[in-house]
Amino acid sequence: MIYLDHAATTPTASEVRAAMEPYYQRRYGNASTPYEFGQHSREAVENARKIIADTLGVQTSEIYFTSGGTESDNWALKATMEAYAFRGRHMITTQIEHHAIGNTCEYLRKRGFEVTELSVDRDGRISLEQLERAIRQDTVLISIMCANNEIGTLQDMEAIGEIARRRGVIFHTDAVQAYGQIPIDVNGWNVQMLSASSHKFYGPKGCGFLYMKQGLRTESMIHGGSQESGRRAGTENVPGIVGMAKAAQLAFAHMDETMERETWMRDRMIHHICSEIPGAFLVGSQTHRLPGNLNICFPGIQASNLVLLLDEAGICVSAGSACNTSEAEPSHVLKAVGLSDAQAYACIRMTLGRDTTVQELQETLRTLKRLVKILKKR
Ligand SMILES: *Cc1c(COP(=O)(O)O)cnc(C)c1O
Repeated sequence: MIYLDHAATTPTASEVRAAMEPYYQRRYGNASTPYEFGQHSREAVENARKIIADTLGVQTSEIYFTSGGTESDNWALKATMEAYAFRGRHMITTQIEHHAIGNTCEYLRKRGFEVTELSVDRDGRISLEQLERAIRQDTVLISIMCANNEIGTLQDMEAIGEIARRRGVIFHTDAVQAYGQIPIDVNGWNVQMLSASSHKFYGPKGCGFLYMKQGLRTESMIHGGSQESGRRAGTENVPGIVGMAKAAQLAFAHMDETMERETWMRDRMIHHICSEIPGAFLVGSQTHRLPGNLNICFPGIQASNLVLLLDEAGICVSAGSACNTSEAEPSHVLKAVGLSDAQAYACIRMTLGRDTTVQELQETLRTLKRLVKILKKR
């Protein structure tokens, strides 16, 4: 099998599994119990919190463990809008967010909040002038993803953060696709809240975190015990948290070389596909792009059929994102960057990973050339 869907999820690294193992076996204590056995688990959780905090250069007390990116996004948006309702009921986001943000905004609208969605250009980037104009007296929050999951577009985080700082608006970013893949500078970007998810950076599924800057008001999303400083109740997922921290350590230790390698392979693959398959073109930005992301449009074909044929050939890619494979609607992201419905139905996303090889990409290229030709004849 050739796996080119690392934006959907990544394999759990063997070092990560090894780090988790003891917490499924002899160290199964509840981190909230007072005796030494339970305190081993507490230490493991707090050590993991330190590791994660260090990757961002923030305080340990600013990291809250969650069940993943979706929960972190829900928490950041709902709890902030609720806690700051005294200040206003308006927030700003973009048209290309993940559904964890988009559908949370839908919910907030039903609860009487107002949400402005910024459009994007062909590259998938927002306009800073438009952002500036969208900020109102009652704007509480800006939530803009750092890196898009479908087309890999990176936003100008420093400039967005500077606007948020100057206008006194809280800035949250869904960094699920960025954390562990590219450098993140929460202080330089003036980010006050950041969502990340373990299974996107070779950690276990069902685990993530929300960075929340000290001093921010928030409501608890999950009520119960006093875990996570009383802000997120529930017995900690100790193995998951330990595994996520191990995965973060590995990702940050090897970030430069991984980025360089994936970027090189990505650009070579884009070049070959676009020069050897008639009509094929890259969707999104050439330069402001996640290292491992390719999104290619093959006009005249149905991407869903191509995905199935590639699957039969043992190659995993996706049309749109993993979360909306069953949707009949064309991707909101591809529409937002200006593709027609027909073009949006003709795009596939390939996302490379740490273990992706040049041979695998050569094999994929050969298969793509063959299958696209067949599909165009249909
Ligand atoms: C995967 C993803 C999420 C959801 O994270 P889960 O941990 O799978 O819930 C949110 N935002 C983006 C950008 C993602 O890619």
